[in-house]
Amino acid sequence: GEIRIGLGSCCQAQGSRQVYERVKSLAAVAGVSVRVKRVGCVGICHQTPLVEVIPKQGQRRVYSRVQPEDVPAIIHRHFRRKNFFTRLHYTWQRWLDHLLGDLDEDELTPKPLDVRDPPVEAFLGRQIRIATEWAGEIDPLDLEEYRIRGGFSAAEKALKEWTPERIIEEVKQSGLRGRGGAGFPTGVKWEVVRKAQGTKKYVTCNGDEGDPGAFMDRMILESFPYRVIEGMLIAARAVGATEGIFYIRAEYPLAVERVREAIRRCEEAGILGDRILGTDHSFHVRVYGGAGAFVCGEETALIASLEGRRGMPRLRPPYPAEFGFAGQPTLVNNVETFALVPWIIRNGAARFAALGTATSKGTKVFALAGKVRRGGLIEVPMGITLREIVEQIGGGAQPGRRLKAVQVGGPSGGCIPESLFDTPVDYEALTATGAIMGSGGLIVLDDSDCMVDIARYFLRFTQDQSCGKCTLCRIGTRRMLDILDRICEGRAQPEDLPTLEDLSQTVKAGSICGLGKTAPNPVLTTLRYFREEYEAHIRGEC
Ligand code: SF4
Repeated sequence: GEIRIGLGSCCQAQGSRQVYERVKSLAAVAGVSVRVKRVGCVGICHQTPLVEVIPKQGQRRVYSRVQPEDVPAIIHRHFRRKNFFTRLHYTWQRWLDHLLGDLDEDELTPKPLDVRDPPVEAFLGRQIRIATEWAGEIDPLDLEEYRIRGGFSAAEKALKEWTPERIIEEVKQSGLRGRGGAGFPTGVKWEVVRKAQGTKKYVTCNGDEGDPGAFMDRMILESFPYRVIEGMLIAARAVGATEGIFYIRAEYPLAVERVREAIRRCEEAGILGDRILGTDHSFHVRVYGGAGAFVCGEETALIASLEGRRGMPRLRPPYPAEFGFAGQPTLVNNVETFALVPWIIRNGAARFAALGTATSKGTKVFALAGKVRRGGLIEVPMGITLREIVEQIGGGAQPGRRLKAVQVGGPSGGCIPESLFDTPVDYEALTATGAIMGSGGLIVLDDSDCMVDIARYFLRFTQDQSCGKCTLCRIGTRRMLDILDRICEGRAQPEDLPTLEDLSQTVKAGSICGLGKTAPNPVLTTLRYFREEYEAHIRGEC
């Protein structure tokens, strides 16, 4: 049998580490023959800590919101008839709790979470797992398990059977677009790096996720480090790179630790290093910890930071694909983009391209958060509507509340009102609403949220994170924030609104990087869809 416990950092924040330790020690004390297995993120964040019991015979069970004191009951339930010591331990635990006077039979008997329950089925049912394939099933650092399930078979194919041109063609055919936010076609980017001239080429994994409310990349790095390494390896073969660099924000210590350990194990197994997988190819990978600047997610700032300089974007062209790290051709892709690549090579571009819309293919991982009943980490096919995500998967608003909007794409994105929830998840459709796909943050807002406050919150974030290079981004956003402060504090004049709109357009037009170009989006979308709230503030009505 097997007992699986999610040990991602958000699961651990809910106490899953203590549950894991308790299961391990009790299983050992009781002599229960079971593998206690650490798994990555399951995605059902609103139910963690989750414990899944898979007995040798009998029904598989998932327990939700498990506390350490629930563990004896779970083990007793599944192993009691087989093991005298388990029964003894459980009985002793119950007796002790009786003596201490805090026994609650319900607490000691946690209710199994039935995966066929309508809420859980609704949460999981619409999801398709590609970047998060085998979520909740595999140990993030068990290389053998990853390989048994087909891991690194795509890398072997790419290294031993396919030419770089064939790999690039397959990625192009899949329709994969960069998942970091801009949505540039991945195969085209790879081709540019392949054709660029240089003495050495680099592949860089952008793990500098910094949007408030977004945790997709952290979850993928913590739960599937081998998949991201495999995606980088395939990219390296395609573009002709010999060195890979993970750029991971320092606020993600568990991701950094697991990726480092995964690299070490791959080196030991001959998957990274020289003459990898029995071929003549070399690929060395290292990890670089970012220092927490949001702007370093922009690829030229990321490269400056890697080179030991201050993380500031620069004007493009030249693009990093031609003039990147150390002046050499450098491929920069997001964590999720790399995580999708092995599946595409293993299963074929056509299967990936069969999912989604005409211009947005495959799946997208989202961090579903905010005022929704069932939050978590989800992977859905492109083309699904915002309504299906928020209402079917997320379960809609909290009791007694009404859905108002969803903030898509973090501080670079925008607020889409409930009336437009039938918009599909598609790069172009989301841009048409004034928001952007972004990297995958979805924050649900309800009727208790003030949209002016929301706009001010996101603008304050980008204002604070502006690197200061462009006057309009540095000072323009500051002036916008002053106006929003005046509006929120009841000191604004009617002419402040046109000034705010004017400034928003000027900042968008006059900033050199994506941070400044998109910073006004939350303000512009809330002005577009919730103007009456701004006006009510100015009239002093709220
Ligand atoms: Fe820096 Fe803002 Fe200019 Fe980007 S737009 S380079 S963050 S000042």
